[in-house]
Amino acid sequence: MNYAELSELIYPSLPHTAEEYEAMYPARDLPEGAMVTRLGPSPTGFIHLGNLYGAFVDERLAHQSGGVFFLRIEDTDDKRYVENAVETIIGSLKFFGINFDEGVTSDGDIGSYGDYTQSHRGEIYRTFAKKLLAEGKAYPCFLSEEEIASIREKQEAEKTSPGIYAGWSKYRDWDKDEAIAAEVEQKIKAGEPFVVRLKSCGVPNASAEETKRHAVIDAVRGELSVPDNFQDVIIIKQTGIPTYHFAHVVDDHLMRTTHVVRGEEWLPSLPIHVELFEALGWDLPIYCHTAQLMKIGEDGNKRKLSKRKDPELSLDFYRNEGYHPEAVREYLLTILNSNYEEWRIENPEADAEEFKFTTEKMSSSGALFDLDKLNDVSKNTLLHIEADKLATWLKAWSDEFAPEYAYVFEDMDYLAKILDLGRHDARPRADLVYARQIMDFISYFFDEAFKVEDEYPAEAADDADKILRAYLDSYDHSDDNGQWFDKIREIATELGYAAKPKDYKKHPEDYKGHVGHVSTVIRIALMGRAQSPDVWAIQQIMGEEAVRSRLEAAINK
Ligand code: GLU
Repeated sequence: MNYAELSELIYPSLPHTAEEYEAMYPARDLPEGAMVTRLGPSPTGFIHLGNLYGAFVDERLAHQSGGVFFLRIEDTDDKRYVENAVETIIGSLKFFGINFDEGVTSDGDIGSYGDYTQSHRGEIYRTFAKKLLAEGKAYPCFLSEEEIASIREKQEAEKTSPGIYAGWSKYRDWDKDEAIAAEVEQKIKAGEPFVVRLKSCGVPNASAEETKRHAVIDAVRGELSVPDNFQDVIIIKQTGIPTYHFAHVVDDHLMRTTHVVRGEEWLPSLPIHVELFEALGWDLPIYCHTAQLMKIGEDGNKRKLSKRKDPELSLDFYRNEGYHPEAVREYLLTILNSNYEEWRIENPEADAEEFKFTTEKMSSSGALFDLDKLNDVSKNTLLHIEADKLATWLKAWSDEFAPEYAYVFEDMDYLAKILDLGRHDARPRADLVYARQIMDFISYFFDEAFKVEDEYPAEAADDADKILRAYLDSYDHSDDNGQWFDKIREIATELGYAAKPKDYKKHPEDYKGHVGHVSTVIRIALMGRAQSPDVWAIQQIMGEEAVRSRLEAAINK
């Protein structure tokens, strides 16, 4: 039996040859410099910030260069499959403004480089595994779990590298030993389970000086010096399904990906990928290994974001809390490119797409994620969204995630006015951060949610009823801001409070307090809180009837 006969024995009937696939998926006809990128999530149902972070890189690179960005579902690990995960992935990414040109969609695949779901590509992987087998670059390996365990023990005892590589699997050199060749043939014919391994050309356990190295371009990290692989890695598992390594190489070649953006956790497997590309005679893509998302942990040290400890790692967190996708996008761009913030300050109104994103400006040492910073960015982003648009967006959020706030959306004009409060001042108020926080922030505008949260200031608590009575009696909804405040000053003076805080500061013995204490009583009666935007402006939005009834209620309490 020669290599070709072995490959035929293993994969007797495949519909196409490797050459045919090459012809079916030709080089893409794209303008010079256009980048082809892909996102390859596993359908585990958990789509996280790291995926989104990578997706922004993919999306920007492709769309800035007039290229193509596609979605490939990497479901070769069938144990991890979760129902509806694909829909969740597509939905979440779309929500954050990530749109694909090609690949898996909720209505099937689009594009001519598919199928885009790895589990549907079995014949393609087998065809290329067959090619490697036929060229003597791969071999079927029948080692059982027990045999592998005992190899491992031996390796430990000998203090040599673990794994299956030259010298450890007898099946590697089947062609040099007739008895093993016969055993292989017989086992295949008997349908015994086996994996297909790459027959690595690397030298096992070479010293650092002797190890061959490959120059690989990484657009984030610069030129990498990648050591030669010597492991006979599995390319096709017992189940017939390819490993990540093999699927990555075959798919990214046939789908003509130019830039592979993926997490830095893949860096250690790069030697394998380099050898696989070489074995198949293909050019390497340009890699962009992105830094891990880190946060400052409880102990003040940087640590990786963890699924278990950090709810903010899950994209669902942002949707549930009601972060506006533009805010999340804006924030991720600030951590993705070190010069983004500067650009944003110079171009406050520009669309984020106008920013020239580059992989060189990406951090390679761990991108620091900070929820407080996201909140700051969000405040600013929301300031640039018109109130009525924001209202519509909030309603959609509430419909999906927080129907308990339905009362907020009964009068959309009222809501838009509330959201617009203080946003056109010389120094605009930036109080709005994310939907749940906004619901709380504006809750006093709605009787359904109004509650008194703060206490009257001690200086004026005893006079609260008198203050509110006098205020109610003199209340004229048509007063302008100046007239309105003059009346508060009058009430303050009449009841023994300084009309100006500084007078009180100078002679505290002459007064019970100052006008600020008096107006805080009014503020608490109306809004339930000691802090709020401008009271006069709030009253104008609430309307006269609501103002009067809040005051009455506070007096009669
Ligand atoms: N399916 C891989 C993952 O979820 C994708 C890695 C890649 O982009 O190559 O980690």
